[in-house]
Amino acid sequence: MPIDRIFSDGSAFAVELRKLHARRQNRVTSARNDSLQGARLSLTARDEVLSKTGGRCHICGGSIDNNDWQADHILAKSVGGNNTVENYLPAHSVCNNYRWHYGAEEFQWILKLGVWMRTQIEIRTPIGQTVGEKLCEHERRRARRRKVVGQRGNATELENANPK
Ligand SMILES: [Zn+2]
Repeated sequence: MPIDRIFSDGSAFAVELRKLHARRQNRVTSARNDSLQGARLSLTARDEVLSKTGGRCHICGGSIDNNDWQADHILAKSVGGNNTVENYLPAHSVCNNYRWHYGAEEFQWILKLGVWMRTQIEIRTPIGQTVGEKLCEHERRRARRRKVVGQRGNATELENANPK
């Protein structure tokens, strides 16, 4: 369904989102199978991947300034992609994990929602205030969890817990 399709109401939009969610489950399953067969890139190959975009994240366009980035498959193995440098682009870990498995349409909805909601938060509409508070709570909880795990020395493993 095209991104500019106007839904009659919020519940019709929710039905559409559930449909996209179901399709995503299938992609998650095939990506898990991909990662089981995946090869690790050598440091030289990672350097090559990073230089393809001049050291920028292919998702947000931002500069990659430390080693916190992932080589993102352009074409998943399940649809004929391979593990060569040609099939990877660099992405910030946070960008890649957020975009993870969302199809083009679902990801466009997420961007649209995000852009609309950020304005609501900025101009402090009632819904923007509620969402802003909830999001800050959510992020504080995540930060605390990371800290606790970090003290056990496993932060990296938790961060990479998404099977990719
Ligand atoms: Zn990025």
